[in-house]
Amino acid sequence: MLKRFLKYYKPHMNLFILDLTVAALSSVLSIFIPILSRKVLKVYVPEQLMKPLFITLGIMVAIILVKMILQYVRMYWGHILGVRMEYDMRSDIFTHIQKLSFTYFDNVKTGHIMSRISNDLNTIAEVAHHAPEDIIISGLTVIGAYAVMISFNVKLGLIAIVPLPLMLFWGLTYGLKMREGFRNVRKRIADINSNVENSVQGIREVKSYTNENLEIEKFNDVNTSFKVAKEKMYKIMATFFSGMFFLTDMFYVWVIGSGSWLIYKGEIDIADLLAFTLYVSFIMKPVQRVVNFVEQFQQGAASFERFVEIMDIEPDIKDKKNAVSIKNVKGEIDIENIWFKYNSSPDWILRDVSMKIEAGKTIALVGESGAGKSTLVSLIPRFYEIAKGKIKVDSTDILDLKHKILRESIGIVQQNVFLFDTTIRDNISYGNPYATEEQIIEASQKANIYKFIMSLPEGFDTQVGERGIKLSGGQKQRISIARVFLKNPSILIFDEATSSLDSESEAYIQSAMEELSINRTTIIIAHRLSTVKNADYIFVMEQGQVAEQGTHDELIQTEKIYYNLYTKNMF
Ligand code: ADP
Repeated sequence: MLKRFLKYYKPHMNLFILDLTVAALSSVLSIFIPILSRKVLKVYVPEQLMKPLFITLGIMVAIILVKMILQYVRMYWGHILGVRMEYDMRSDIFTHIQKLSFTYFDNVKTGHIMSRISNDLNTIAEVAHHAPEDIIISGLTVIGAYAVMISFNVKLGLIAIVPLPLMLFWGLTYGLKMREGFRNVRKRIADINSNVENSVQGIREVKSYTNENLEIEKFNDVNTSFKVAKEKMYKIMATFFSGMFFLTDMFYVWVIGSGSWLIYKGEIDIADLLAFTLYVSFIMKPVQRVVNFVEQFQQGAASFERFVEIMDIEPDIKDKKNAVSIKNVKGEIDIENIWFKYNSSPDWILRDVSMKIEAGKTIALVGESGAGKSTLVSLIPRFYEIAKGKIKVDSTDILDLKHKILRESIGIVQQNVFLFDTTIRDNISYGNPYATEEQIIEASQKANIYKFIMSLPEGFDTQVGERGIKLSGGQKQRISIARVFLKNPSILIFDEATSSLDSESEAYIQSAMEELSINRTTIIIAHRLSTVKNADYIFVMEQGQVAEQGTHDELIQTEKIYYNLYTKNMF
């Protein structure tokens, strides 16, 4: 784990070394200030040596100036180091996630991926530079300060160590508890946010079921736990700070008291005591830093663990070493005795399914909902891996094909079209990022959406909104058909909408689909009688198996499942 973390320092080693050197230098420089102050009070003032006095004061000012510059360098370049490491990790994890298969995405929440990529990496970046800085600064300051104090006076030096463990104990106990309290509050805020998001997004549902009171009750629950968490946090915060202030004040009293007693006994003088009190103020900061470090380190380690967890997920769909590519895929598909189940499903979803689809033909898949039609078509682009059996495209097993080639030769028009939150043009040219304006226009004409686009004030530059919210189902589907026209694949998979389209949209889509399917192998999960009838061949699926197959006329004649579906209008 540590090795993998250190890997991210490697490209930025120069910055890392700069950061630590600067941290070390500024700690060491700080230690000189009390030494010089003591010298001024102990020697130059009593002996009225004005020149060395002013020179020393000048040196002190110079040290403070240099410290300021060092502080700037550490603040700026230290954070730059963190930002750059965060950038590297973020692009690694995003690249990795893009390679993962549907099996992963089926089982993960978008919010979780988002927080890995934003919050977690931010925490890691902070730890990456603050943790080593904190160790160096606190270590050097505390060791240096005590070494100098003991060299001034062993007795008072040792006396000054006594409060240190107490402060560390208090800081670590309550400081960490306080941070935990903060984190708890943040979690509760997240709950509030998701509650508000849910009920605002679902406001139509809320109102149509007149469930406003239920929503208010749910909100009150999260709001109350937020209040409780915050009150608890402030209690710990009050304990932590009052205790810390008390200990800090007592630290001074302890050192001044013991120092006065030693002055009374003639073992030290007032200049020594001043130096000691200055050191006491130095020691406070490292205590705070140690608390910071422990807390950040815990969080950083947890965040990095989650990062590694994702990076360790092997993409389960990978090309074989000697995977081949075929040029000009014709689109012949052989599905041979395949068996399939999802990771999460206990039973087989597809059982011994075989289909032979000739290149350029249109076949319809029909059957009741849940029969396995969508699952079957998702196996052809290898979105999931088959358990047993084979799928061949142009007589080549898809496992032996480069998956990029395979997926490039398949176009999918889904029932629930996904549009990216950008312009109509970008959504269409997603099918071929190199398409020219003419090609985009031609594709939208063929998809029967051109006129509609031109009727919009901003035409192709119209923003479609999140998930294409500003467009109707039929318009979205035609945009996705235009997208597939640009992609120009040999194989076409079309999940026909079950309902919710007005008859005009339906007619537009139907004719666009007919145009699109010319010279392409087309598999339609069909719900409309006209589509089914026009198909060259029909497969009827039932509970994960091919129950019947044939042309429309053949299947009607057998008077079995298809006949029943047909007469009950149940496609
Ligand atoms: P159809 O397209 O014929 O309606 P599906 O292929 O969508 O049927 O679904 C077949 C079965 O697989 C159903 O029981 C469904 O619950 C299950 N299923 C579909 N997708 C997933 C998935 N991503 N993970 C787990 N089970 C799924």
